[in-house]
Amino acid sequence: MTVICRINASDFTDGGFDIEESIKFARLLEANGADGLDVSAGVGSTSEYHISPMSIDDRPILSLVKRIKENVSIPIIAANKLGFAKDWEEIINNNIADFIGIARGLIGDPECVAKLKNGNIEDIRYCIHCNQACIGYILNGLPVSCMINPEVGREKEFEVKTDRVLNIAVIGGGPAGMSSAIYIFVKKRP
Ligand code: SF4
Repeated sequence: MTVICRINASDFTDGGFDIEESIKFARLLEANGADGLDVSAGVGSTSEYHISPMSIDDRPILSLVKRIKENVSIPIIAANKLGFAKDWEEIINNNIADFIGIARGLIGDPECVAKLKNGNIEDIRYCIHCNQACIGYILNGLPVSCMINPEVGREKEFEVKTDRVLNIAVIGGGPAGMSSAIYIFVKKRP
């Protein structure tokens, strides 16, 4: 069995758990058999370090991830608002982490990894870190959805059911019209 532990690099609170303690903890986990570490940060009052909103810079805990990586030899997963595809590749290529952890990014675009792998980086629809329809909905007891991917949680509603060929014209080239055109002519093309 592979055991990967998610750890907290820092509480970001006065007197709380900090990076030096986290390094000691990481070493203990490694010595006791952990196969990998998934590095996050922040507690309830500093959630901006694990569900970072759009108001803070990208890669807010990457320097802490790097410190952990430098102090253990097991694989490290970097997480939390990691920027764009070129940044993900840089993190791996610069040996800051061994894996990229993507959560909200996969809600916004479940195909983002496939697009990166296939060289279609310009087609990736990036999470905008609004925290409204994922985290916000959960906190209000609602099912998860996404402000940039309205199909999430409503997949059945978006199913096209017809037994004949339809002739559809999209009138208007604004955001709604363009999204409709993509949906009808690209995503649903047989
Ligand atoms: S609602 Fe969508 S775009 Fe906004 S933070 Fe959540 S996953 Fe990202």
